[in-house]
Amino acid sequence: MLILDESGFYCPEGDFHIDPWRPVPRALVTHSHADHAHWGCGAYLAAEAGERVLRRRMGDEAVIETVPWGESLSLGPVRVSFHPAGHILGSAQIRLDRGGEVWVVSGDYKTEPDATCAPFELVPCNTFVTESTFGLPIFRWAPQAEVFDQVNGWWRKNAEAGRASLLFGYALGKAQRLLAGVDPSIGPIFTHGAVENLTGDYRDSGVALPDTTLVSAAPDSTDWAGSLVVAPPSANGTPWMRRFGEVSTGFASGWMRIRGTRRRRAMDRGFVLSDHVDWPALVEVLEATGAERVWVTHGYREAVVRWLRERGIEAMAVASRFEGELDEAESTESKSETAPGGEAS
Ligand SMILES: [Zn+2]
Repeated sequence: MLILDESGFYCPEGDFHIDPWRPVPRALVTHSHADHAHWGCGAYLAAEAGERVLRRRMGDEAVIETVPWGESLSLGPVRVSFHPAGHILGSAQIRLDRGGEVWVVSGDYKTEPDATCAPFELVPCNTFVTESTFGLPIFRWAPQAEVFDQVNGWWRKNAEAGRASLLFGYALGKAQRLLAGVDPSIGPIFTHGAVENLTGDYRDSGVALPDTTLVSAAPDSTDWAGSLVVAPPSANGTPWMRRFGEVSTGFASGWMRIRGTRRRRAMDRGFVLSDHVDWPALVEVLEATGAERVWVTHGYREAVVRWLRERGIEAMAVASRFEGELDEAESTESKSETAPGGEAS
């Protein structure tokens, strides 16, 4: 039902692309990260829950149509519907059904529910297109409650010592998930501008988040000691940080699972928190969909393809234009943050 053309996944019968990496006439998008929602397409179709965020990323002129979760519409002979992927606000798996043959393009996904988006829904299918950002057995996440205990403990200790806590996470998705998980009784919470705009979109979309103040709107006399400042990782080490006085820095990312990442990032603390499935959750989903064929994109494709083939599942690695997930991959971060449509998370 899908083929790979020069712009990405294309459905000839429905005449649309899914998450194209170049401008196309009609794009169905799984979510608003820059490597999935490309700027400049003729029209976009996405899940209703993520409309505000997609609008911010694509601009006022973009033609954006949305559908509620699970509601299907016809594009040619193909019935199309969107189902929660649990990755960021509005992130969807796109289900295609042509006469009972079902394909699901999962975009990015995670199965552990969080407060900032609808939980992942398992969608049975014949062919499943999966990410493999963290598709190696070394990637295993602790329950997020444990991670937030670590974050809150770090913040509390810094507050007691009279330091500000600078917590870095990608501006779209991770930053809001951090805000939803921290304990606001510890101290005031401030945000970098790139985080604040999207956080407003989350609130306007009905996601409950603690009060935040934009750093640049705080008076010069502000005492930052004891506060938590949430910012994108690109802000680390910039002059923007000077105003805070004595600080401790922390970075929340799945890549913190890899030894040395925190040091290379020049952070005091690393928190292993990802919006992608870890290895156990990935293989659980691959089995549970019942798919007899799987296309594997992003990240550690070969390991996942091998695992599938050992189980008799037809598997193929699909090269994507972007290697790894822009919103978490260190190597491609600078590219993502200069992408059209704003900073990429
Ligand atoms: Zn993503």
